[in-house]
Amino acid sequence: MKGKMKILAGTETLQTDPNFSAEVREKSGQPIELCYQCQKCATGCPVSHHMDYHPNQILRMISFGLKDRVLTSSAIWLCSACETCGVRCPNGIRISEVMDALRVMATENNLSRAKHTESFHRIFLQEVRARGRVHEATLMAKYKLKSGQLFTDLDLGLQMFKKGKLPLIPRGIKNKKEVRDIFTRSEISREGGK
Ligand code: SF4
Ligand code: SF4
Repeated sequence: MKGKMKILAGTETLQTDPNFSAEVREKSGQPIELCYQCQKCATGCPVSHHMDYHPNQILRMISFGLKDRVLTSSAIWLCSACETCGVRCPNGIRISEVMDALRVMATENNLSRAKHTESFHRIFLQEVRARGRVHEATLMAKYKLKSGQLFTDLDLGLQMFKKGKLPLIPRGIKNKKEVRDIFTRSEISREGGK
């Protein structure tokens, strides 16, 4: 099916893309059409109470073709890929894979509204690529400079420092090259899949 449609939801008019569901299925490799909204994913998700839409709601909106609404949601950036939902789902749907695909689509379509969260993801990955692991103090400093939120969470940072959770000297791992190679291989396979 081609082209976009509009549907009415209360007083709101929503744009739908009838190809969206098939696109997400293909990019995530997950049988999202099997979801029957039992909500076992949402009840087990450790971050669903911070999300604008729960994981099962994201799947329902995908099936309705609500592309813009899904790709602008904060939920897709807050998923921590813990896999709890995948283990709980009676239909074997791994939502972390779906969320991965949605993040890529949001970035490619320049639709992400969760700019700070997206920045955090990018800086986190840059750190892992550079050192093979994250140096928390560097991660926080880079994120705060990028987001402009210089003075938020200072209390939390101080508490972490006092408990030795924010070491000042960065430490890498032995096989940094192996980690860099993983990044390179994933970039090549992504470019090959375009
Ligand atoms: S647990 Fe699986 S079937 Fe149930 S709502 Fe979540 S994704 Fe859908
Ligand atoms: S993988 Fe993501 S959506 Fe699923 S339970 Fe974990 S945080 Fe929630």
